[in-house]
Amino acid sequence: MAAPLHSALLRKLPPVDEVLRIPAIVTLVTLEGRIPVTDAVRSVLARLREAIVTGQLDDAQLELALGGLEGAVGKQLSSSLQYSLRPVINATGVILHTNLGRAPLSAEALDHVRQSAQTYSNLEFDLEHGERGKRDVHVSRLFQRLLNGAQADVFTIVVNNNAAAVLLSLNTLAEHGEVIVSRGELVEIGGSFRIPDVMTKSNGILREVGTTNRTRISDYESAITDKTRAFLRVHRSNFEISGFTERPSIDELVDLSRRRQIPLLEDQGSGAFFDLRTVGVSGENSVLDSLRSGIDVVLYSGDKLLGGPQAGILSGRGDLVERMRSNSLFRALRVDKLTYAALEATLLAYVKMDHESIPALRMMHLSKDDIARRAEALATRVARAGMEVVLIDGDSVIGGGAAPSAVLPTKLLGLSCSGLSADDLAAQLRQSASPVIARVEDGRILIDLRTVFPEQEESLARALVAVGPARPDSP
Ligand SMILES: *Cc1c(COP(=O)(O)O)cnc(C)c1O
Repeated sequence: MAAPLHSALLRKLPPVDEVLRIPAIVTLVTLEGRIPVTDAVRSVLARLREAIVTGQLDDAQLELALGGLEGAVGKQLSSSLQYSLRPVINATGVILHTNLGRAPLSAEALDHVRQSAQTYSNLEFDLEHGERGKRDVHVSRLFQRLLNGAQADVFTIVVNNNAAAVLLSLNTLAEHGEVIVSRGELVEIGGSFRIPDVMTKSNGILREVGTTNRTRISDYESAITDKTRAFLRVHRSNFEISGFTERPSIDELVDLSRRRQIPLLEDQGSGAFFDLRTVGVSGENSVLDSLRSGIDVVLYSGDKLLGGPQAGILSGRGDLVERMRSNSLFRALRVDKLTYAALEATLLAYVKMDHESIPALRMMHLSKDDIARRAEALATRVARAGMEVVLIDGDSVIGGGAAPSAVLPTKLLGLSCSGLSADDLAAQLRQSASPVIARVEDGRILIDLRTVFPEQEESLARALVAVGPARPDSP
């Protein structure tokens, strides 16, 4: 289909074999292997062919491109061999950001993962008796200690994520039976987790009660039939209902559940193992609070407020959790040794009251003054021609299933650049060697250092200095 003019240029493109004989390319082959280098050569030639056919390259430009062929192949090769999953700098101030991997792990958790995974371990082996053991034991004793005193016999099991925990608990307690849920709690959590859908998959029957804004305890009570297997209370997590609202207290639900002998489950989501009031956030129950108030089984994530690895955790009445453990779904939803190792180290930090070693908790504890000091130093570094820098008061968001109003006061760095939109600035920051993810608001970029690790600040400063229309390489 190429026009005659194009065919002359196309004939100048060397065949793949010939490119592979160029000495610099031969060196690449010895370093990285023949297959990825051949693929890179093919991609570069295909790009050139495309540019010729679409009329974007004339003869002189093609000569120039062919002169830089080795460089182009090298660049293509390194981008094709780069990991897709990469660290980023979270400058959004959202501490538990689902799209950015939620909780970063502690140094101790990472060490424990490395040590237990680089060789064999006693994952399911009882060292004392030389027999097969259970993988739960590594964390169940720590959960027992941390939740001690909440109820007579709290037992805990761990599955892949909280969605799996909800599925497993409903399937165990309510297969072919009914579960009573308030209409005000039929939530969708990001990533298409919807309570009604999970209920269907669990083979449980959803019995909705009340209205979106008001549900009373009498609504729960009058919905009870001989098919009722459980009550489910769901944390609203990502939205709030205000105005003319009503919702039964936990105490009322516990009282009803005990009187009618119907288990009460709570999908708590956030899963805090500390008192959020210590960081100035009220109205969020910890796991211990929920168990103490008499909820039978609490379901929560490992990588939200707990600050550990992705996991779904079920803590509560021994007899109920033991039934969930014996469900064959548990085997399908179980977690691997990496998760157990990271979780064990994270729980141990709580046992030692060493909250500062858990990154998410450390970030929550940072004061506005600490952040302001760091922001001022960064502002001085990036203030330069073309970039307008202001320091403004704002909020960091806890995220991760805590209420949207759970925010912490912070100091933000506001950046704008004449001749460049905030969206373009944000896009440039995402393309940095260390990608930076920032908030865009009111026509500027907002940087919140609460979620930036101090050891990332140098890379952040470099990325900020490099963006904008006036590139450092074209002063
Ligand atoms: C986050 C959340 C979930 C989903 O938890 P995953 O660990 O992401 O599966 C379920 N329910 C509530 C209330 C949540 O906040």
